[in-house]
Amino acid sequence: MIRLFERELKRAVKAVLSPAIEAVGVNDRALSGPLADTGRWTLLTYHRIIQQVDEDPYRSGMSVRADHFRSQLEFIAGHFDVRPVHEAADLFRTGWTGPRPLLSITFDDGYLDNLEVAAPILSQVGLPASFYITVGGLDAPAPFWWDRVTHAVRTARRREPLDSTEIGLPGAECRWSTAPLARGDLAHALISALWRLPEAEVEPTVARIQAALDGAASPGPTLPPRMDRDGVRALHARGFEIGAHSVSHVNLCLREGDALRAEMADSRRDLEQTLGVPVPGFAYPGGRLDTPVVECARELGFAYALTTDIGTNRRDADPMRLRRIGSPDSPVADFKRAFARALTRDAQPAA
Ligand SMILES: [Zn+2]
Repeated sequence: MIRLFERELKRAVKAVLSPAIEAVGVNDRALSGPLADTGRWTLLTYHRIIQQVDEDPYRSGMSVRADHFRSQLEFIAGHFDVRPVHEAADLFRTGWTGPRPLLSITFDDGYLDNLEVAAPILSQVGLPASFYITVGGLDAPAPFWWDRVTHAVRTARRREPLDSTEIGLPGAECRWSTAPLARGDLAHALISALWRLPEAEVEPTVARIQAALDGAASPGPTLPPRMDRDGVRALHARGFEIGAHSVSHVNLCLREGDALRAEMADSRRDLEQTLGVPVPGFAYPGGRLDTPVVECARELGFAYALTTDIGTNRRDADPMRLRRIGSPDSPVADFKRAFARALTRDAQPAA
């Protein structure tokens, strides 16, 4: 409960301080250097764009509200030359000489709200973006396991304490309470423990969690739908770049050899057959990567691959390890502050 409480407290303090900091020009001063630097290329990461806070009850860090998204785009449009990733990669490699720095907007996973909420706002503001799609079950996509875990926690009817060994996650912090803040902490703890499990154990463990929490089986607002194949076609037809994001969104570091290659190559092939165009880019699922994973992307001939390592990219950046900046769910003042912090920090190299 402590973590979520601290986050809520920080949010409340920020809501008071942030407009004051913005009003005296602190954010603009912090950004003035980075915004004039055309020798770096910035990529922003989004996952979901939501209409109501309720759609992401435990603030997973993967959602940005539509009004915040719009104001962030308006700020970006005023300061950067925004290009799809494949185009920016070429321009940057060959020596970008434009008056403004390059920036690319990226979306991971392939949620339906990317098509229904994000794409219309992008078009209204007049900006391109690149969308990285997980292709497993694309004809009738099931919700992602982390969304099913969140849903199970939110709808849980359990009353007695939860035992982490009972659900197959020994050592995980599984304090169960019906209080909303505690539920949020439980969802975060379960999801991060699940990410560390061997691939074959993830789905059986999710099923045990669902059974133990006795959650409602029917889909609800916390079970966000994915785009299906027609949705991906529609997004592409609107002029947006489509990239690959694996077949089953596994931790690629847990795969090797043909099984690793298949996750990457098959997701590209599926999208190329669906769209009838080359798919040059890949985004590593969950930002999980190591040297064999990066070399696999290179050997398969991807033009570039995206990490979730925080930072911007200089001209000598490895195109298979492009860094990005996660976008906070904040109005433009906080976005500028988070952005300035990320632009000025010394990013650590990927593991
Ligand atoms: Zn992803």
